[in-house]
Amino acid sequence: IATDCLCCEAHSVEVFHDPVHGQIELPQLLVKIIDTPQFQRLRSIKQLGGASFVYPGGDHTRFEHSIGVAYLAGELAKALRSRHPKLIDDKDILCVQIAGLCHDLGHGPFSHLFDQMFIPRVLGRQNQWEHEKASQELFDHLVKEYKLEDEIIDEKIRLEKEDLTFIKEMINPTKVQDKWPFEGRGEEKSFLYEIVSNKLSGIDVDKFDYLERDCLHMGLKNTFDFRRFFLFARVCKVDGRNHICLRETEVGNLYDLFYSRYSLHRRVCQHRVTQNVNLMITDAFVKADPILNLSGAISIMEEYTNLTDEVFEKILHSTGPDLQEAREILRNIHKRKLYKFVGEAKVYKTLNPNFDPVRNVFFYRKDAPETGLRILRILRIRQDQVKKNTMSLKNVCCQYISKHLT
Ligand SMILES: [Zn+2]
Repeated sequence: IATDCLCCEAHSVEVFHDPVHGQIELPQLLVKIIDTPQFQRLRSIKQLGGASFVYPGGDHTRFEHSIGVAYLAGELAKALRSRHPKLIDDKDILCVQIAGLCHDLGHGPFSHLFDQMFIPRVLGRQNQWEHEKASQELFDHLVKEYKLEDEIIDEKIRLEKEDLTFIKEMINPTKVQDKWPFEGRGEEKSFLYEIVSNKLSGIDVDKFDYLERDCLHMGLKNTFDFRRFFLFARVCKVDGRNHICLRETEVGNLYDLFYSRYSLHRRVCQHRVTQNVNLMITDAFVKADPILNLSGAISIMEEYTNLTDEVFEKILHSTGPDLQEAREILRNIHKRKLYKFVGEAKVYKTLNPNFDPVRNVFFYRKDAPETGLRILRILRIRQDQVKKNTMSLKNVCCQYISKHLT
């Protein structure tokens, strides 16, 4: 359904019905990207690899996840603009949405099975290839083929070279050190690089979407609520740079995010049978690689565009003797003749008692919404220290202090 954009009235949008987010609106340019072969290939790449052989509902794809991430990226950027109108403009929002849409373009067959299991097996562990780099390359390929650079969105918004650079940087940002490493946007917009793929804290809309979506399809619970994150997110300056900061009372919601992620990983990705099926598919792909040249496709974008989960069926339905061994492995998966489970060893290592998943997240207090803070681990603070004022309370969030002042 084409309609006018309700948020910025700058360009027309199309409405999608998404099983997780309901009715969502995306600008026309995103729809143009969706309607390309490079994006459509994501319809044939399962989000969770071989997990659907354990959880029958888990055969959703990178296609709907990417649309969900584009939507959430836009919603978070708009929420931040409502609080800081001078920091974000329409073009920023459009770029953030495109980065969300394209962040997973480069995934190979069965998602992480391809980059974490198959590629290291055939090209060696020292190989540096990763799907984020392939996303950037496929985005370049798409822009060239469909002349996005010349695409005029309306009289006001037009994608320039620096915007395309900005989009690619957001897809795979480098870790920010002292020197500002990006060319697409200046330092004052540093918080925009934390929306799609947050290399600092790991909290980004990619996670927000896959937690909701994967749990929905698997029949599992996600206790993290991204809507509360959107409500309480602001931009504050910390150590000279603008960061997304969250109200300190919301820290519990973030712990829920990390717990839900851990739980999903343990129940789905690390499930004994998921691992078994992934190993068998990898073995089949390794045996088929000299014939089908799957690993060679990663450097030729025309070929990579056609490389999807369909390679599973291609091997399964083959008849020639050269693919016989690979075919046999995949047939065994269908017949549920899986590799025998011999045993497992638990590797124990001492956990760092001070490890905290929110250690790199910035917060603000209700009474000082412009000041970004870290939540310090002050659980061992003594009452007398506070009373005697021997500790500076300036940089400490009140939620933890209040526990110890009573
Ligand atoms: Zn993703």
